[in-house]
Amino acid sequence: PQKNKKLGIALVGLGYYSTDLLAPALQLTKHCELKGIVTGSPEKVPVWQSKYGIKDGNVYSYETMHEIANNDEIDVVYIVLPPALHAKYSIIAANAGKHVWCEKPMEVSAEKCQAMIDACKKNRVKLAIGYRMHHEPNTQTLMNWAETEPYGQINNVLAKAGYFDTRTNHWKQIKELGGGAMYDMGVYPLNAIRYTKGKEPISVSAKHITKRPEIYHEVDETTIFDLKFSDGTIAHGETSLGEHFNNLEATCEEGSYFLKPFQSYSGVQGATSDGEILKPWKGNQQAKQMDDDALAILNHQPMLVPGEEGMKDIHIVEKIYESASKNSSWIS
Ligand code: NDP
Repeated sequence: PQKNKKLGIALVGLGYYSTDLLAPALQLTKHCELKGIVTGSPEKVPVWQSKYGIKDGNVYSYETMHEIANNDEIDVVYIVLPPALHAKYSIIAANAGKHVWCEKPMEVSAEKCQAMIDACKKNRVKLAIGYRMHHEPNTQTLMNWAETEPYGQINNVLAKAGYFDTRTNHWKQIKELGGGAMYDMGVYPLNAIRYTKGKEPISVSAKHITKRPEIYHEVDETTIFDLKFSDGTIAHGETSLGEHFNNLEATCEEGSYFLKPFQSYSGVQGATSDGEILKPWKGNQQAKQMDDDALAILNHQPMLVPGEEGMKDIHIVEKIYESASKNSSWIS
């Protein structure tokens, strides 16, 4: 019924992802409109106002953000901050009575994730986590195959996502802000293993590898992890801020399939062992994610990636860090 309504979106944190990906993608959406900004950098305000026509009354700082409660033009507050700030600002947004979209990784502990879920429930607003792959059609095919198992039981899943980060003084290297490869990139292979297998792991074994200790002394540069499932199968994940890789493979009883790359902004593609090709989808992932989530809000439907899904990963990420720090016996 509300098909033509657009939701007003406010972006919180005008860094790389907001600037280069989300704001441009918002211009491509059918059901969203970039209406507001929250920033701690006054010099960014005029740039954003002139580029996106944002009114003076819709510009906030972190200190004034709670006043969004009085702004009818803003329906959704999208948190695009360093991970360890997600709970604080998601809760401010929820308490302002606004729906919350929050970037991955959801937070740095399951406890903080739970606080976000609770705040949204209490205020009767929706919470969605920015797992854009869940909205990507080839990824959705693999998710369906986890249910239908067209190649028989899924015995082995391998997922690797990493890139070489050249920065030396960024939150990704600062523990207090939620840095570290496993939080930042690691949720991609972890989440991919869970959606490709379609089951929850029962145990983990992990270790960290650091090639640039002068940069990665507080947090992990590379983490490798094994997840064990109740059916006895093991999945292997790798993630890195020092090495490039981007592939997802499932080996089943009667065949196999892969996506490579599996988490890039575009060009996610793959094939099956019997020759089916998963061609790249041509759309804009962030626009689709935001339209899917806006439509779910407008139609009172559940969010595709609710807080509970983001929290499941963070719960496992905490166990992965625990295992790696204990240097527990590694299953090779
Ligand atoms: P950036 O470092 O580029 O931007 C973060 C912004 O947060 C800053 O520009 C700043 O904005 C604000 N900020 C507020 N407090 C702090 C602080 N103490 N330290 C640093 N920044 C602060 O990060 P990204 O844009 O790359 O990442 C932001 C979030 O988006 C993360 O959760 C990340 O994982 C996620 N992300 C998701 C992607 C995806 O594909 N889904 C891709 C890339 C990132 P201001 O100056 O306006 O206050």
